[in-house]
Amino acid sequence: MQRVVCPGSFDPATNGHLDIIGRACGLYDEVVVAVLINITKHSLFTVDERVDMLREVTKGYGNVRVERFHGLLVDFCAANGITAVVKGLRAVSDFEYEMQMAQMNYRLAKVETLFMTTNPLYSFLSSSLVKEIAKYGGDVSELVPELVLSQLQGRLASELPDGEPHRVG
Ligand code: ADP
Repeated sequence: MQRVVCPGSFDPATNGHLDIIGRACGLYDEVVVAVLINITKHSLFTVDERVDMLREVTKGYGNVRVERFHGLLVDFCAANGITAVVKGLRAVSDFEYEMQMAQMNYRLAKVETLFMTTNPLYSFLSSSLVKEIAKYGGDVSELVPELVLSQLQGRLASELPDGEPHRVG
């Protein structure tokens, strides 16, 4: 069985993430989406919320498993019988960091990294930009799955000090 991992923060999942996950599903028997538990980074959604949303929006693929992980990705790979990481490359700016991580993961545990070029529709898209736009009332409805959009609306509305809901989509 060919099993790969798509790791990330997914705070929250975007259509760019789903594009990479969906394409990986067509190439491998099983795609494990691994949500990084990072207690030092402020996140909008808890790890449990991110995992639940990802499970819901990927259930149609049939060969996706969503898990959480902390520590080294190579250790998660060893524990789950995974030999390769699949990552999306959005722009040249992603390249330097991703290459360093890929080389280190190979050096540490011979875990391979496979890069997919982003669908041009989503090459500008990141979770942090989606949160920023949504926070100021911009329309992100084409950039995230419907479930994520409604969760974003709820979360941002409840975070506003005056209780005034933001328009997200
Ligand atoms: P970021 O890297 O923006 O902090 P994540 O950690 O959630 O966001 O992303 C996990 C991985 O998903 C990234 O390393 C990248 O491989 C992929 N990814 C994120 N956004 C996109 C996108 N718009 N198109 C393709 N791949 C993406």
